[in-house]
Amino acid sequence: MSVIEKKIETIPVHVESYGSTSTGTVSIRHYSPSERIRRTFATFGIGFLITILSVLIPVAHFILVPLGFIATPVIAFLTYRRTENIVSGTAPCPKCQAQIQIQKRAVAWPVNETCQGCSRALSITRN
Ligand SMILES: [Zn+2]
Repeated sequence: MSVIEKKIETIPVHVESYGSTSTGTVSIRHYSPSERIRRTFATFGIGFLITILSVLIPVAHFILVPLGFIATPVIAFLTYRRTENIVSGTAPCPKCQAQIQIQKRAVAWPVNETCQGCSRALSITRN
């Protein structure tokens, strides 16, 4: 029996918007090699299933099936390369001080987010 330990790390981040700054935190989920392989197979399986089911759609299957056979391995490979994801985060907006929620996404610094209070573009970087 194995216990799957979710590795979530909370790190401080620096939020910048038009010269103003603030600090917040972001939770990052790290994937172990076995989790990455499992996610890759799940992605490949779902993509392959959608590709096979698109055979049933008249006319569109001439495009969807070849596209599915090309896109599925590419998306599965990109899933395998991803070692960590941002699962959540929060920080005060440097301009309006509204508490912003950082959405779940792939980790690619700087993370671009929009303030839910004033709609200004925010650039989030690791401290
Ligand atoms: Zn704001």
